[in-house]
Amino acid sequence: MNTTVHMEDAPIRAFAYHEIHSLNVNDVYCITPELFLQHLWTMRHSVNDSPESLVITFDDGHYSNFRFAAPLLEFTALHGHFFLPSTWIGQRRGFMSWQDIRELAARGHTIGSHSATHAFLTSCSASAMYEELAGSRHTLEDRLGISVTSISMPGGRWNEEVLRACALAGYETVYTSEPGFYRPAINMDELRTPAVIGRFAIQRRTSLRVINGYSSGDWMTVRRIHSMYQARNSVKRLLGDQAYQRLWFHLFRATPN
Ligand SMILES: [Zn+2]
Repeated sequence: MNTTVHMEDAPIRAFAYHEIHSLNVNDVYCITPELFLQHLWTMRHSVNDSPESLVITFDDGHYSNFRFAAPLLEFTALHGHFFLPSTWIGQRRGFMSWQDIRELAARGHTIGSHSATHAFLTSCSASAMYEELAGSRHTLEDRLGISVTSISMPGGRWNEEVLRACALAGYETVYTSEPGFYRPAINMDELRTPAVIGRFAIQRRTSLRVINGYSSGDWMTVRRIHSMYQARNSVKRLLGDQAYQRLWFHLFRATPN
């Protein structure tokens, strides 16, 4: 059942970004607009004439996604996929408003859910999970007047139970943080589970060579990035979530996504 298909077979290559910032802030996931533009050129070049095989995603709904990322994507004739925790919209300083997101959708970008409150779904009760999945989807659809069929997992955490709940809540595609992972939609007991697409979370120090390798589906690059992810994940499992977050913050002044 756990059919992991690696990147070379996956129909798309997905990247995950967070904040784009004009200042060099001390966060491994935060990159400058100049560097982001270099990434986009590199990706475009490596996929040649099939840019639809690229999915460039943004988690959390930072205002910089609207200010910098969207114009640069449009400049390179690409579109973004923006995942938003529905209760954060218009409520947090430095994050997008409903009007910003309506505009992104009107300009052809895709809007997805990133849960309601950014809770880790693997530790939610059934009723909380319903609110996080169906609640966030309905809020986004009602406020934006668009249909929402994709979600990215807060903290990259998911399991089969979460996936079934996503199916019941009407999602067709679930994005995770495991680079190279791909599992197509599966029919399971009357329910069609969503396709699961792993993303490569770009850091400031990620080289253009690696980005080029990943977007062109180079087997060696995908394998290397995947093993780095697994190594980090086993440290996380050993330390436990909270200790891992404290360590990460201490080292990089950042919250692991
Ligand atoms: Zn997030």
